Amino acid sequence: MTWLDDFDTRLAERQAAHLIRRRRVVEPAGGARLQVDGRELLAFCSNDYLGLAGHPALRDAVHAAVDRYGVGSGASPMVSGHSAANAALEQELAAFVQLPRALYFYAGYATNASIVPALVGPGDAIFSDALNHACLIDGARLSKAAIRRYDHADLAALDAALAAEPARRKLILSDAVFSMDGDIADIPALIALAERHDALLLVDDAHGFGVLGPQGRGALAAVGRTGAGASERVIYMATLGKARGVAGAFVAGPQRLVEWLLQATRSYTFATAAPALLAEALRASLRVVAGEEGDQRRAHLHALVARLRDGLAPGADAAVDAAGWRLLPSDTPVQPLVIGENAPALAVMQQLHDAGLWVPAIRPPTVAPGTARLRIALSAAHTLADVDRLVAALRRAARGG
Ligand SMILES: *Cc1c(COP(=O)(O)O)cnc(C)c1O
Repeated sequence: MTWLDDFDTRLAERQAAHLIRRRRVVEPAGGARLQVDGRELLAFCSNDYLGLAGHPALRDAVHAAVDRYGVGSGASPMVSGHSAANAALEQELAAFVQLPRALYFYAGYATNASIVPALVGPGDAIFSDALNHACLIDGARLSKAAIRRYDHADLAALDAALAAEPARRKLILSDAVFSMDGDIADIPALIALAERHDALLLVDDAHGFGVLGPQGRGALAAVGRTGAGASERVIYMATLGKARGVAGAFVAGPQRLVEWLLQATRSYTFATAAPALLAEALRASLRVVAGEEGDQRRAHLHALVARLRDGLAPGADAAVDAAGWRLLPSDTPVQPLVIGENAPALAVMQQLHDAGLWVPAIRPPTVAPGTARLRIALSAAHTLADVDRLVAALRRAARGG
């Protein structure tokens, strides 16, 4: 036996615990449909909440950008990779979220994993919601600051932990919309705690940006904490591969904090800049999201959410009630249906799949043991009839298929 043989054992252990993940090769098949292994499936598993990933305006922008800039960026933004497109995007993002300055990154995971260590280090303290996204957790670990985890949304516990903390630099980390639960953090209360305890707050709005707030300006704008209402203690982070339909992420906030992140974030300095073609796609996406079409897409998305919730509400279907399935409270396009154990969650996913529907089962360690769930993600690309089809298939599955 060598160390190499361990990998077989460890993979077998994961297999036995229903924890093996498989990728499927997909191709778009129109609307929210995907061609998967030769079969067309109606997908409820994309975070493309506004249905913009295949939008003609974004495609056209990419074609024009390729003609102007070529494909690759060639270098770090600190060397020669900061294209005119990327610079314009940063200005437009800052204006859109009504914060002084923005910095555009290649990917959301790398953004959080590297801005947290740029902000705090050994001897400092991080306060992290128990349901935060993996990349905030990994950023916290990389920073080597002390990590104080508080129970999900327990702001009294957070207040007490901040009060008891002797470290001088304190950083609160929170998702704005929790990615596997769909609920929204109490951002005004988090800001108040940051102000009271001389702390900073990093808000990850991966799932709210484009969807929440006026014109989809995001979770901070939704509670009036941008523009004149902005706090000097908030760093706003959002991703651009979800409702914005492209890829990447940005941080925005006060001038000096963003300048510090530009200077001190290693994944920014030591990574090749995002290609200009992505920035141009994002600028086109921004125009759609902020315009009348964006409002129409958000209104349609809300109608889809309401339709799904009506269909799965307690009392709407005896079999769903009897199965003990629980749709978590959520006003966002993330609509988790908690099934419980891993094996039944996978069985329901399979039944839906047999019916031509693709809804992912999310299992531990992504969620707590015993709360395996179907994470239903709605998109403006869905129709009301698509949602009706999903509700009918779930009701059948609750009757045992
Ligand atoms: C998806 C996601 C990220 C990662 O963003 P990518 O651009 O996909 O790397 C970060 N935070 C949250 C909350 C997310 O859901």
